[in-house]
Amino acid sequence: MDPRTIGVLGGGQLGRMLVEAASRLNIKVVILDTPPNAPAKQIQATQSHIHGDFKDPYKIRELAKTANVLTIEIEHVNAEILKTLMNENTIVIHPSPSTIKLIQNKFSQKTHLSKHKIPVVDFIDVPTKDDLSIAIEKFGYPLMLKSKTLAYDGRGNYLLRSEDEISNALESLGNFSIPLYAERWTSFAKELAVMVVRRANGEVKSYPVVETVQKENICHLVFVPAQINGVISEKAKTIAEEAIQTLEGAGVFGVEMFLMNDGHIYVNEIAPRPHNSGHYTIEACETSQYENHIRCILDLPLGSTALKVPAAAMINILGKSNDLQETLRPCAESLSIPGATIHLYGKQDCRKGRKMGHITVVSDSISQLFSRIKPILEIVNENEH
Ligand code: ATP
Ligand code: MG
Ligand code: MG
Repeated sequence: MDPRTIGVLGGGQLGRMLVEAASRLNIKVVILDTPPNAPAKQIQATQSHIHGDFKDPYKIRELAKTANVLTIEIEHVNAEILKTLMNENTIVIHPSPSTIKLIQNKFSQKTHLSKHKIPVVDFIDVPTKDDLSIAIEKFGYPLMLKSKTLAYDGRGNYLLRSEDEISNALESLGNFSIPLYAERWTSFAKELAVMVVRRANGEVKSYPVVETVQKENICHLVFVPAQINGVISEKAKTIAEEAIQTLEGAGVFGVEMFLMNDGHIYVNEIAPRPHNSGHYTIEACETSQYENHIRCILDLPLGSTALKVPAAAMINILGKSNDLQETLRPCAESLSIPGATIHLYGKQDCRKGRKMGHITVVSDSISQLFSRIKPILEIVNENEH
C-alpha cells in the first residue's frame, strides 16, 4: 500500500490502535517506548521496535533512522530533538515539533489560543505563592490550579476550594517544581470534544461533536451525537477547526471544550494526536481517527469523518484496583450487549484509575444507545461514592 515506515514516539493504547490501523494497510510501524511489551509493540510483534525513552535524544535519532515519517501518540516527548531533526531535513515529522512544544505547556497553549481569538477561560500565571493570592483575588474560589507541563488524566490539576487547602494543593502539585498557572472555575453545562484532521496543505475535516463525561478529572464516557442543537454543534465545530488552523503540521487533533448554559463555548485544551474522545470512530465512523492520522502524516487523501451509525458511546475501563478480573467485569457484561465492541490494551499491571481498555457501543438511536450502555455503566459505577 505504502512502502514508508512510520516511527511513533510512545507505545501506549493510542499507539496500539494506530498500529492496528496501519497493519490493515500493510504499513510498517516502529514504536519507541521503554517497556519491551508496551501495548503498541504487541500489535506488530514481528517488527523490531526500539526499547527506550521517548525523551532520549539518542533513541529518537535511532527511531528516525528506521523510519520515513515520525509521529507521536503522547505529547510529553523531547520536542527539542524533533526540532533539530526537522532542521536537518532528513525526516518528515507530524505534527510539527513547534506544535508539540507549544501544546506541551498548557499555559503557552492557552496564551497562543487567546492571542488567536479562540475563546478560553480566564487564566493567569502563578510562578510563586504570592501570585496564587493574586489569582484567588481575581477569580475567587473554587479555583483550578494546574501544572503547566506533564499533565494527563487530571494529574496536575487541583481544585482549590478554600484557603485551608492552599498548602495541600501546592504540595500535591510539587511546590513549583513543575510550573503552575490558575484558571477560573467554569460551571459548564456539558463538556464537548471535536476531533479535527488536518493535512500538511491545510485541508481540515472534523468528526461529529461528541459529549464527554469526566469523573474526578478523567474521561469516563463519550457519546455521539452530542445532545445539543444544530447551532451550538456548528459553533463547536467551527471553533475547533479554527483552533487547529492556528497550529502547524498534519495529523489528527483532539479539541476539548466547555459548553456553558448560555451557549458560550471555551476551548479547554488541545491534544496533538489521536484522543480518547475519538476511540468511538473505529466502529462508528467511515474512517477512524487512527487511519485518518496515518493518511494525514503520509499525505494521502483524507477519509470520510461521517458517522455510519446513528449513535455511539465509548466507556473507558479504568482499573478498579489491582485486580484485573474485577476491572474487566463490564467487558464480560458487554459480551451479551448488541453493538458492543471490547478493546483491551494488553497492559500487564492493573492499577486503580489506569486506562486498561474501553468498550464502544453502536446503536440505531440515542435512546436505544442509553439502554444498551446502562448495564455496563452500572457495573462500572459499582462501589463508587
Ligand atoms: P487530559 O487527560 O484530557 O489531558 P488533563 O490532565 O490535561 O486531562 P484537563 O483537561 O485540564 O486535564 O482537565 C481535566 C478535567 O477537569 C476537564 O475535562 C474538566 O472536567 C475539568 N476542568 C479542567 N479545567 C477546568 C476549569 N477551568 N473549570 C472547571 N472544570 C475544569
Ligand atoms: Mg491534557
Ligand atoms: Mg483534558
